[in-house]
Amino acid sequence: MTEVAMQGPVVVLGGGLAAVSFAGGLRSGGFGGEIVCVSDEAEPPYDRPPLSKEFQREGAADKIRLDLSRAHDVQWLRGTPASKVDTQRREVLLADGRSLGYRTLVFATGATPRRLPALQGAPMPVITLRTLDDAQRIRAGLTAGARLVVIGGGVIGLELAATAQGLGAQATVIEALDRVMNRCASATLAAVVAQSHRERGVDLRLGRQVTGFDGHAILLDDGTHVDADLVVVGIGVVANDALARAADIACDDGIFVDRFGRTTCPGVYAIGDVTRQRNPISERFERIETWSNAQNQGLAVARTLLDPTVTPYADIPWYWSDQYDLRIQVAGVSMGDDEIVRGDASPGSKFSLIQLHRGRVVGVTCMNNVREFSSLKRLLGDVALPDRAALADPGTDLRKLLAAPRT
Ligand code: FAD
Ligand code: NAD
Repeated sequence: MTEVAMQGPVVVLGGGLAAVSFAGGLRSGGFGGEIVCVSDEAEPPYDRPPLSKEFQREGAADKIRLDLSRAHDVQWLRGTPASKVDTQRREVLLADGRSLGYRTLVFATGATPRRLPALQGAPMPVITLRTLDDAQRIRAGLTAGARLVVIGGGVIGLELAATAQGLGAQATVIEALDRVMNRCASATLAAVVAQSHRERGVDLRLGRQVTGFDGHAILLDDGTHVDADLVVVGIGVVANDALARAADIACDDGIFVDRFGRTTCPGVYAIGDVTRQRNPISERFERIETWSNAQNQGLAVARTLLDPTVTPYADIPWYWSDQYDLRIQVAGVSMGDDEIVRGDASPGSKFSLIQLHRGRVVGVTCMNNVREFSSLKRLLGDVALPDRAALADPGTDLRKLLAAPRT
């Protein structure tokens, strides 16, 4: 008998995309038992990608709600953090004193932004961006002429800087490394993105750190300062794995899971941003912080719980990022010892990049080249590459090239 076909409820900790996708997967797979989702947020489930983009422009919370039609007949406990997991008794304790028994427990607790202690006590708002509430507070400060300082030149920082410039604010981005998007973009993409921001008026300071503040001035480690009406800190996230760790489940900034979403504790699973899973391209255990992973891992783990014979989860990681009129799509990993540039990799152009490591395709990137993305993704993992010159030529029909026999 499968895990969830047995008696007792399925309890999901978290009310984000992974939780909704998992609950929807159980229901569409025919599971008729009890599903309880515990979320510390009082808000009904919503999508996070618009928080740095459309939501800042439009402010319409009703447009970003997650569709719960598949995840029907779920008991939602909202505004209630889970505070302890007792895996011996198969029980979850909630902060409000209630307890819930479970047959199957699923961690979908996501991640929390890292803070910047150097700005504690600063007079202007200093905000991280993860929740709808954060996004609303940022939106209130993003008025025309406002001086926004973003700490961190990752996806949050750059998306927000782009949105702010579009709203008539003046964005400065402070990035500790000498390039942007270090976690998730190749050096070529990072250089084009950095140049695109500078061309649109963003003051991008690379290789700089914040040392403190003096009134409304943010002080940097080169002795300069930047005046700020609003500061947004986007310096990465840590996994919300404290309850799992306290329950002796194996974690290391993320709960270790296998391709079935199983943790090291029987009956306990994990999905989405909180997991540390084997990346099928790098073959390392990593956190995969993307919308597509939360959606697809949630769904896949539900399927494997209902039918362990279905193919377990091993999707190629990918994400998109919208900055100004740039649609960036990246699949696989951005490391590599070689790169094929398809088109002109410069600001304002559309192009694709193919990253190779020891002759194997490990990553693909498309800049404003949406039509090529799914074809290029099919190259990932391939050692038998199509003709390199043909691949680099943007005039070559990719579909025909990929369909041709390779040696
Ligand atoms: P989360 O969405 O973080 O949900 C976890 C939930 O669990 C939260 O509600 C949390 O409050 C709750 N929780 C935590 N601890 C407890 C507890 N103890 N008890 C109860 N509840 C708890 N990805 C892309 O691919 N493209 C994008 O353009 C993109 N844009 C993004 C923009 C922003 C501003 C952000 C923040 C993320 C973006 N992402 C994007 C990433 C994507 O949104 C995440 O990967 C995805 O939301 C992860 O979903 P999740 O359900 O695993 O975690
Ligand atoms: P990130 O890891 O993408 O980038 C953090 C950046 O901050 C890095 O460039 C890092 O070098 C820099 N940094 C770290 N410490 C610093 C310091 N003290 N001073 C200056 N710079 C510092 O993380 P993020 O941009 O904060 O995004 C957070 C989460 O939101 C991630 O999980 C991300 O996947 C998700 N997100 C995704 C998207 C997308 O995929 N389009 C968009 C927004 C957010």
